[in-house]
Amino acid sequence: MEVIGLEAGGWLSPRDFAPDELRNNFRGWPQAVQKANTEIPTHRSNGSAPYSPRAAIHPMMNAIGGTSLHYWAQSWRLHPWDFQVVGETTKRYGAARIPKGSTVEDWPFGLAELEPYYDKVEYEVGISGQAGNINGMIDPRGNIFEGPRQRAYPMPPLRGTEFTERMAAAAKRLGWHPFPGPAAINSVVYDNRPGCVYHGYCSRGGCHINAKNSTAVSTLPKAMATNRLKVVPYAHVTTVAVDDRTGRVTGVHYVSGGEEYFQPADVVLLASYTYENVRLLLLSKSKPFPNGLSNNAGQVGKHYMTHNTASTLAALFPFDLNNWYGLPAQGIAVDNWADDNFDHAGLDFIGGGNLWVYSDRRPIAAASMSTFGKAPTWGSAWKSFIKKNADRWNLAYIQKTTLPYEDNYLDLDPTVKDALGFPVCRITAEFKDNEKKSGAFMQDKMTQWFMEAGAVAVERGPVGTMGVSTHAYGGTRMGDNKETNVVNRWGFAHEVPNLGILGASVMGTSGARNPTLTAQALAWRTAEHLTKNWKAIANG
Ligand SMILES: Cc1cc2nc3c(=O)[nH]c(=O)nc-3n(C[C@H](O)[C@H](O)[C@H](O)COP(=O)(O)OP(=O)(O)OC[C@H]3O[C@@H](n4cnc5c(N)ncnc54)[C@H](O)[C@@H]3O)c2cc1C
Ligand code: SF4
Repeated sequence: MEVIGLEAGGWLSPRDFAPDELRNNFRGWPQAVQKANTEIPTHRSNGSAPYSPRAAIHPMMNAIGGTSLHYWAQSWRLHPWDFQVVGETTKRYGAARIPKGSTVEDWPFGLAELEPYYDKVEYEVGISGQAGNINGMIDPRGNIFEGPRQRAYPMPPLRGTEFTERMAAAAKRLGWHPFPGPAAINSVVYDNRPGCVYHGYCSRGGCHINAKNSTAVSTLPKAMATNRLKVVPYAHVTTVAVDDRTGRVTGVHYVSGGEEYFQPADVVLLASYTYENVRLLLLSKSKPFPNGLSNNAGQVGKHYMTHNTASTLAALFPFDLNNWYGLPAQGIAVDNWADDNFDHAGLDFIGGGNLWVYSDRRPIAAASMSTFGKAPTWGSAWKSFIKKNADRWNLAYIQKTTLPYEDNYLDLDPTVKDALGFPVCRITAEFKDNEKKSGAFMQDKMTQWFMEAGAVAVERGPVGTMGVSTHAYGGTRMGDNKETNVVNRWGFAHEVPNLGILGASVMGTSGARNPTLTAQALAWRTAEHLTKNWKAIANG
């Protein structure tokens, strides 16, 4: 079929990706100069709370390849429990353990349905990792808690470092199961792209040798080579058009170079990240959809979640860790305290977290370390503390299950507008008791791990807010019930059969790990469904 890809940004090349902490991590280049920055969502904790200070830069990218250009590239599958939180929790602990006010539902299918698509994407974009469960055969070198997979990763995992090996040994002494995490980064030459050279500085930057997957170097060139995909850069979609008579979508309106255009289409797929997917639907009002496209059931913007990556934990060691190289996807994980991998009977929360420690140290971030109450935060004593300890601390990355709640949602801001005069997205959300309790529990576990590895002090981070996030889920949730979900099990809108939605906005649970591989697997599945059912979907 003929596919037109409308993209708000342009092409970037490896030369655009400098290993430069100031530019990537503080000035936010190149994303700082992009469309997204004019439409940063606003945030308030609840309907009567004051607005939080607005984020300075939008974390997501406007360019061909999107945020896969500068993401960390951790590439996790969800686990079986993540698809059946309600059913499994009810079975094991009783229905009363679903937190009050949560709108969580089981997915319309389980891991087995998505597994072939995870597999497809892992081989198409190139994932390095160590399998832990191939067709039920457990391999203790990998994650023993993962669901069954049909085959190994296409590449071995990224190499370890002295620090990650120290942490792995400590986890084993605790009786836990450490394993190297999966990354969309070549550990060896793969698909005509080189292996990673581990110099780092890509924690928010692209890879200038293309060892890191971005769709701009993996799937898009192959799709374009078929001559069936035309990518239109600098095309800023403003609304999706609807036939007032049939209620079907007919194409999209977009702006390019100050001119307005209309792109007709038999089928429209929205893939503009959670905030923009929701915003475009809410902005696309028509006679059949006066409250926004596919929103007659009032579900657009609902069931919003951001990953609970707050409640951090930093540790101070009495020796150098030699972390002045490497990248955030080069790390060691522990899943013993994730999902329902441990007994929650005596606990007062459900879910858990993935404990992750990694290599990667950059000068400005290193010098921004806490003094752990051992030195003043200014002057000569501070300087000498930093000089001695800049390579002696580590900040764990802990991703915790986050559930959707009835009063956490996205809508349009009543006053703040983007550069074209359209309202920006407004986030109304806060972490609830379940997430606060699991956060504190995970900090305890991480403390135990760091101390076992030789740390002399730890510092707990605050609960945090649910403002603009790189792991934003929900808003166009997938499910069989059209009263509580926007898209059906195939990713097409219940109310608009020729409108598909791609991205983590369709996910009903967050799991305890990053979203992108799941979003990619779901996208592949939606695309396959479209090709197999083209006539029915396109012609109605
Ligand atoms: C620093 C950082 C690190 C991350 N690390 C990880 C990680 O390790 N693992 C992981 O799984 N995830 C990670 N993420 C999250 C990951 O980047 C996202 O899950 C993923 O990119 C989402 O894909 P998407 O296609 O939905 O959105 P995007 O990648 O943001 O792509 C959306 C595209 O739509 C375009 N667009 C938006 N609005 C319009 C419009 N109106 N008209 C036309 N085009 C439009 C944008 O320009 C963009 O190219 C990270 C994110 C960041 C910022
Ligand atoms: S550390 Fe690896 S992924 Fe990062 S920029 Fe260098 S080669 Fe690319």
